[in-house]
Amino acid sequence: MYLYKIVFPIALNYGFIYKSDEKIEIGMRVLAPFGKKNKIGIVWDEADNAEGFELKSIKSILDDYPLIDSKLKKTIEFCASYYLTNLGLVVRSAFPKRIFEKEELLDLKTTNPNIFSINPGYTLNDEQRAVYESIKQENFSVNLIFGVTGSGKTEIYIKIIEDMIKQGRKAVVLVPEIVLTPQYIDIFSNRFSKEIISVIHSRLTPKNKLDNWISFVKGEKLILIGTRSLVFTDFKDVGVIVVDEENDESYKQENEPRYNAKDLAIYRAKQYDIPVILCSATPTIETYYKAIEGKFNLFRLDKRIKNIALPSVEVIGIEKGSLLCDYTIKKIKETLDGKKTAAVLSNRRGFSNYIVCSDCGYLFVCPNCSVSLTYHKNTNDLKCHWCEARFNIHKVCPKCGSPNIEERGVGSQKIEEYLKKIFPDKDIERFDRDSVLSKKEFDRIIDKLKDGRIDILVGTQMLSKGHDISKIGLVVVSNLEELFGFPDFRAQEKALSLVIQTAGRSGRQEKGSVIIQTASGGGELIEYIKNHDYESFAKKELITRKQFGYPPFGRLVRVIIESKNRQKAQKTANEIAVILKKSESILGPSECPIFKLRNNYRYHILIKTVKILKTTAFLKENVGGFKEKVHFDVDPISFF
Ligand SMILES: [Zn+2]
Ligand SMILES: [Zn+2]
Repeated sequence: MYLYKIVFPIALNYGFIYKSDEKIEIGMRVLAPFGKKNKIGIVWDEADNAEGFELKSIKSILDDYPLIDSKLKKTIEFCASYYLTNLGLVVRSAFPKRIFEKEELLDLKTTNPNIFSINPGYTLNDEQRAVYESIKQENFSVNLIFGVTGSGKTEIYIKIIEDMIKQGRKAVVLVPEIVLTPQYIDIFSNRFSKEIISVIHSRLTPKNKLDNWISFVKGEKLILIGTRSLVFTDFKDVGVIVVDEENDESYKQENEPRYNAKDLAIYRAKQYDIPVILCSATPTIETYYKAIEGKFNLFRLDKRIKNIALPSVEVIGIEKGSLLCDYTIKKIKETLDGKKTAAVLSNRRGFSNYIVCSDCGYLFVCPNCSVSLTYHKNTNDLKCHWCEARFNIHKVCPKCGSPNIEERGVGSQKIEEYLKKIFPDKDIERFDRDSVLSKKEFDRIIDKLKDGRIDILVGTQMLSKGHDISKIGLVVVSNLEELFGFPDFRAQEKALSLVIQTAGRSGRQEKGSVIIQTASGGGELIEYIKNHDYESFAKKELITRKQFGYPPFGRLVRVIIESKNRQKAQKTANEIAVILKKSESILGPSECPIFKLRNNYRYHILIKTVKILKTTAFLKENVGGFKEKVHFDVDPISFF
């Protein structure tokens, strides 16, 4: 008889011991009785004995081949330990969901790809070639390609991937959230035949996701493109990992397990002794610092392909709360007359920012969350962007009975509507999370974008994400101040990155222009934007970060305490703060910026540390066993 520890994909940090008559390889899936049902789990370890326990038997073995090898096992264990999360939750994140839902045999037998071809790419220019020659290597290294938008970063890593494929190796390309995947599929399938490309993103059905995952793992496909969870794929035979748009926040998972796929990609590259390539026009301050300190290799690309100059930037003062000024409208008209597309960035989704009673000032907030509701004109209702709840519109103020209910602030829907009045016969589309909810609608806009059939595109952050829309001649930032509305030491970095990335959408074919509307003058950020000078900003920002001990000079752990009962949440937060103060330097406890979320009251404590492993060890040892929910966010990106 054999004894095994089985880990299930649930929120537990340990496995359960079962017995089996057969010997089973570590890493295989089994079906085992769990509570009143049977559950799929993974054989994690051999177990010695479990005296005094009545052991249950494993029902059946589901796989012929292990899903997890020793390296992946180590990665998952590291991830759970470093991010103070549960092993079971990391296991669940590491695989397509269906693996734990269907008792089906997976065909993981190693195969070779079908016959495929590689099309010649365009010849790299001297600057690109120099970068390519220096990155081209076989062993572990972290390489940052820091290049202005449109400088051809993609072509460099595609050339490196091509070399790998020719050597019979594979490549993994991590990309930000789903909006970008169609664009990557286009770029890659122009170069490599579709037979060897596998794409995984959240718009696929569970079955497709699993099939695509399997075809890469078994060797039929050689290039895997997709979002953060692919960092847990089997990296056997992989020769290079790319993390594109490395500054993108979507690499950090915002719910459990709160891991950062970019950092794990570096961990895995080291495990396999292969290079990892990070790309961005606006790298995070942490990445930039490591690059100038020599921990990462730094490659700059200062020229745009075809030597097209970066767009010119104009700054226009506007009244608070106004939409688009006359000058901006005039410029949009000129752009359209020149048969070009104008893009308008608005950072807020929805028709207006908030709904308020103009007589008593009553603010319509979500009853589940302490955030203001947003009016959505197309569905004619109020929506909470945090818990997704929808509410009917009130005819009168619930507090004073006044009918004078007003929308205030500016949203992307409002701008869209305003532009439709001014340019009634133009094709105007909105591109944000609300308008791209359905796959059909999403594909329709992407197709129109690719064909250049959109005259004016209104959007939120999604506009900044890599879309190479050659026809964009003008980018308008409708309100610079909107971009800073975050309770976050990274607010400036995030705002500047967003503006520079969005501005970079313009003028890929010939010089474009950018208009920044601002109610406050924009301060010193304006100079960096005007000169497209992210690096001077980064240098200045590093001085501030050093002064306050923020990353990259210190590490942060955010402790979030949640409860349906406000007093209990506060009491627990205070108790935890007392424990932490014995060993750590902390800020708080304070109410979270979103104090109430999905009916939970929330407090947080921020730990600043220079010895992260010592801090996480202390937390594991000393902070636990509370009745209220306590979450840890190691290396947090969001502070809501
Ligand atoms: Zn009122
Ligand atoms: Zn809500």
